[in-house]
Amino acid sequence: MACCDEPKLLPVVTAIDRMLEAVNPPADFEQLALNQLLDRILAEDIHAQLNVPGHDNSAMDGYALRAQDADKPLHLAGQSLAGHAFQGSLEPGQCVRITTGAVIPTGADAVVMQENTRIDGQHINVTQTPRPGENIRRAGEDIAQGDRVLSKGHRLSPVDVALLASLGVAEAEVYRRLKVAVLSTGDELTAPGQPLTAGQIYDSNRYGIVALLQRLNVEVIDLGLIPDREDAIRATLQNASQRADAVISSGGVSVGEADFVKDILDELGEINFWKVAIKPGKPFAFGSLGRACFFGLPGNPVSAMVTLHQLALPVLRAMAGEVTEQPITLNATAASRYKKRPGRQDFQRATLRVQEGENIVSSTGPQGSGVLTSFAGANCYVVLEQERGTVEEGETVQVVPFDRFIL
Ligand code: AMP
Ligand code: MG
Repeated sequence: MACCDEPKLLPVVTAIDRMLEAVNPPADFEQLALNQLLDRILAEDIHAQLNVPGHDNSAMDGYALRAQDADKPLHLAGQSLAGHAFQGSLEPGQCVRITTGAVIPTGADAVVMQENTRIDGQHINVTQTPRPGENIRRAGEDIAQGDRVLSKGHRLSPVDVALLASLGVAEAEVYRRLKVAVLSTGDELTAPGQPLTAGQIYDSNRYGIVALLQRLNVEVIDLGLIPDREDAIRATLQNASQRADAVISSGGVSVGEADFVKDILDELGEINFWKVAIKPGKPFAFGSLGRACFFGLPGNPVSAMVTLHQLALPVLRAMAGEVTEQPITLNATAASRYKKRPGRQDFQRATLRVQEGENIVSSTGPQGSGVLTSFAGANCYVVLEQERGTVEEGETVQVVPFDRFIL
């Protein structure tokens, strides 16, 4: 795009599609042990090498028997305990004491739960006859040998790690971690922990961005606070593009005097687009810097976090090899008025609650792009369509609950 074209605001979905088209997952993989797999992205499908459960086993503590024998007193022939199967096979008129999870002896076709029996010396009387197959968990009932249990592109959760272990899988192949470089721009910024001088504010964006990236489990390269000087920003971006898969900056992408980021991106790399029809946000630059891709977030703290979450995160996840699903969107009744002008898709911060079966969503207060408190107190976005105007109390709106990356 030539520098003087008047760039139109790109709809959010178009911006995301354009970014996804421009990126690829890593071409390198690593083989990692189970206890290093949490929050890594599978680079292979996982197929079960065995049946789960591995044997027909008991769902109850009780007695294994032939269902057809249940009307007679049964001779207790032995026991089958977890880890200690009954040896031999069950003869007619016999039963075997069995505990939950223990192997069903050959010859038995049901388990009667202990509560439905009476002990009479060496004999067991069944007080409620089980159906054939009752209280037996069949081999392969949960997972059959050969089934695909997890797919390439899946982010591994604690439950997934347990599932792999249950299949005897000790290691798996995952994509290498992304390297993401982060910088803040702005002469007015001071690092937290330092005293503020007149007119200075604390750099909050870099910490919020790094924190989200930690949840994403990428390798973070913190490039620090860069002053609004063309040479400093140029040198930092040049250095970053050689070390990282993605570079994220905040500030300096508007059209002010000291907003060099976009121009330097244009000079060192390529701008794909830099204006998105999103609120909070709008100046959001995407492009490439050598082999790295570049996200230029707006400076305002709420805008930086919303555009990071809504625009950059889906792309970073794809770059990490992750296959994702659309977030769940709910309809809810607006408990208050939402002021809005058509033209941008608005991500207001709000709280969703269910009241007498109805989804009710309330604003968390002032929605200025510098107001982090109304973000911190929220549990969802109210997503107002690009062309929609002001929403009156009682109207139906779309709500997207926060995911684990943002709050
Ligand atoms: P800019 O896009 O650089 O003009 O920044 C827009 C607004 O965001 C200004 O009020 C900046 O002071 C503020 N801002 C920029 N970067 C940060 C940051 N890292 N942390 C907090 N506020 C910032
Ligand atoms: Mg600035």
